[in-house]
Parts: sequence; C-alpha cells; structure tokens
Amino acid sequence: MSIEKFVIKPNSKIDISKIKTDDTNGYASKEEAKKDLTKNIKKMISLQDKLYAEDKYSMLLIFQAMDAAGKDGTIKHVMSGLNPQGTQVTSFKQPSAEELNHNYLWRINKALPERGRIGILNRSYYEEVLVVRVHDLIKNEKIPKELISNNIWNQRFKEINDFEKYLFDNGTVILKFFLHVSKEEQKKRFLERIDKKSKNWKFSEADIKERQYWDEYQKCYQEAISATSKKHAPWFIIPADHKWFMRLAVSEIIIETMSKLPINYPSLNNEQLKNLAECKKKLESEK
Ligand code: ATP
Ligand code: MG
Repeated sequence: MSIEKFVIKPNSKIDISKIKTDDTNGYASKEEAKKDLTKNIKKMISLQDKLYAEDKYSMLLIFQAMDAAGKDGTIKHVMSGLNPQGTQVTSFKQPSAEELNHNYLWRINKALPERGRIGILNRSYYEEVLVVRVHDLIKNEKIPKELISNNIWNQRFKEINDFEKYLFDNGTVILKFFLHVSKEEQKKRFLERIDKKSKNWKFSEADIKERQYWDEYQKCYQEAISATSKKHAPWFIIPADHKWFMRLAVSEIIIETMSKLPINYPSLNNEQLKNLAECKKKLESEK
C-alpha cells in the first residue's frame, strides 16, 4: 500500500471536506485487510525489538479524531502483540487543576517515550488548538490576559512545530494520525452504542453535545493539520469509516517509517566478544 496517499504535504492547505472517509485503497474485503494486518503486526514486533535493544530512537504516535472514530480500537489492534515493556499509552482528558497551573506542554512531557520505546498519545496537545478553540477555553488556562493575542492559534501552531522539531532533533520519530470519520458513520456508531447493551458504557451524552460542533471541529482540524504537517512530524489523514482499513493503514505507516530508520541490534566490540567467549567457556566447563 502506498502510504503517500494519506500523508499531508508540508505547507499544503487542505480542504478536509474533500478528503474521503470511506476509502479502502483497493482492499475489497475485511478478511483480506485482516490478513495483512496480522502480517504487519509480526513485522512491527521485530522492528520494535531492534528499537528497544538499540535504545537510541523513540517513536511518538499521536492519535486524534472525532468521537467514535475508533482511536481506542486502533491503538488496541495495531499495538497488540508488541512488547508491553517497550510501549506506553497515555490518554489526555480535560486538564486537572494541577495541569492548568502549568503551561500546556507540561503534562505532555511526562508522557514522552524513553529512548527505545513507542509512546502513544490518545488525544494530545493538539486538543489545545481544537477543543480549546471550539469552546473558547483559553480563558480557563490562567495565561496572563495581556499575553493572549488575536494571533493565539497561529502562535500555538508555531509553538507545536518548534516543540516537535526539538523532539525530532533529539531522536523522537513522530507520526500523527487523524482518523477521519464521516458524520453519518459517527451517528451510526452512537446509535449502536445506545442499542447494544455491551456497548452502552462507551456512550456519553457529552458526545451528542460535541457532535453539534462538528463543522467547527472540522475547520479547526483542517487548519491545525495544514499548519503542523512537517517532514519531521507528518500528519496522516486516515479514512475511518471502515475500521478494518483504518487499522491496516496505520500499521503500514508505522512499519514503513520504522523500516527506514537506521536501527540495528547493538554490536559488541572486541573486548566484549572476548568476554562472551570466556563466559561460554566457563558455562561449558561446568560439571
Ligand atoms: P472515549 O470517549 O473513547 O473514552 P475520549 O478521548 O473521547 O475517549 P473522553 O473522556 O470522552 O475521552 O473525553 C476527553 C475529553 O477531554 C475530550 O472531549 C477532549 O476534547 C477533552 N480534552 C482533552 N484535552 C483537553 C484540553 N487540553 N483542554 C480541554 N479539554 C480537553
Ligand atoms: Mg469520548
């Protein structure tokens, strides 16, 4: 699968309403995609093993989406089988009082992956240019009033770009996924959550309220993605109406990116090799 199709080129002005939500890139069936996802998970396990052993690069995977687009399921399926010691998922909800007493990247820093690890953000600092913008929550953030300019959103895009460049320059590989679901599909999924007992827990009345701001959210996503998709921290818009395709596409992007990284198992120097040989001798001569 060519992942180029889903990447947003730096400095492009996207029209999100023109980007398909139901594309399957030629995949005709769920079964076909599932088979390839299983293969991809195997590849990912072997790449993660090297990433972890070498302890040099880290991966930061960011998931953003409208409600019910399938963030949780994608994270669960795509990451299944990975070594849990090398992965860490953090979900970002409304900031706590303590978090609001700091700048908006403070809570993010604590969630960044160590070298050799894969860090997953289920929502992220992008909420700061999405929900905060849609609901005008900036006034709750305790920033001195005189510092909040009319240009606040462009300022935040720049801050985010600078932050991501800093992470990249220090060995963090960043991939950002917008799981792009249609309004009709969201309705279908909400109704399923209401109708199916086993899914009731997933439904929240707040989701219906947020749905009323659909267009505002789309506009904010469009601007944020256009302003912050960079070569070193690209955004991918993944069609999310077919969950099976979305999961496969995300796995392809992760694999393709990791495969291009110069990651290898650490090799030993002569002295270390000599030590190994001595250890082997000792073990073999044991009675
Ligand atoms: P799910 O519904 O599948 O559990 P979710 O990510 O929607 O996942 P919720 O607890 O329903 O989790 O929602 C979290 C809410 O927190 C979202 O509405 C999100 O917009 C909000 N949120 C996240 N970060 C911020 C932020 N910095 N400022 C304000 N609200 C935020
Ligand atoms: Mg929710």
